Order: sequence, then C-alpha cells, then structure tokens
Amino acid sequence: MPLDLNCLFCKIINGDIPADIVFRNENVVAFNDISPQAPTHVLIIPTIHVENAGALAALSPTITADLFTAAVQIAAERGLTGYRHVFNTGAEAGQSVFHAHLHLLGGRSLAWPPG
Ligand code: AMP
Ligand code: ZN
Repeated sequence: MPLDLNCLFCKIINGDIPADIVFRNENVVAFNDISPQAPTHVLIIPTIHVENAGALAALSPTITADLFTAAVQIAAERGLTGYRHVFNTGAEAGQSVFHAHLHLLGGRSLAWPPG
C-alpha cells in the first residue's frame, strides 16, 4: 500500500521526519505528539496512507483493530487505568493531519464533554 510523500505522517513512517517513536510493528507506528495535551499523548497511525478512521475501517478492520491493540499495550506499560481514544475526522472536528491517527490521552483527569 503506497505512502503519500506529501503527507507528514507518511514522512514519519519513512523516517524522513524525526519523531519520538514509542512502538512500531508491521501495521502501526506510535509516537509522542509534538504538542502533548496530557502527560501521555501518543499518536498511533497505520503504516498505510488513508485519510481518516472511517476510511481505514472500510479498508482494513485488521489494521484498525491493531491501532487499538497498540494503544492498550502502551497504556498498560504506563500503568494508565483510565485514558481516552480520540479520532478527529474533518477540519470541523479538529483534524489537521489527513492520515488516520488514534490519539491516546491519559495521565490526568479528562473532562467531558470535550470542547
Ligand atoms: P489532529 O488535529 O487530530 O489531526 O491531530 C494531529 C496531531 O498531530 C496534533 O495533536 C499535533 O500536535 C500532532 N503533530 C503535528 N505534527 C507532528 C509531528 N511532527 N510529530 C508529532 N506530532 C505531530
Ligand atoms: Zn500519510
């Protein structure tokens, strides 16, 4: 599955842009968010270029599940007992990078409803 060489996260997958990578396997890469909103703020992305979570789920339920498996593993390693999974889809929802990514947020109390 091709990467998009104009995509920031594809560049991170390729190693063309540095990132603080915390987990990697064939299907996913996870790295610390450059602008963390919580003590743990990790982005977990598929190693294929796809625009958003819904499109990823339609393309590959397996890789979609792998994002969650990695997130749960990272949370467990950090002893997080409560955390949040976030997918923003579309600019109106705050999506700024159009390569699907799961935000893993934890390590502090998280308010609800979100802003
Ligand atoms: P979203 O707004 O849901 O599209 O999330 C994009 C996230 O990517 C934001 O939380 C940014 O802080 C984060 N981000 C942008 N550039 C980088 C980068 N070079 N390395 C790590 N995280 C980044
Ligand atoms: Zn991409």
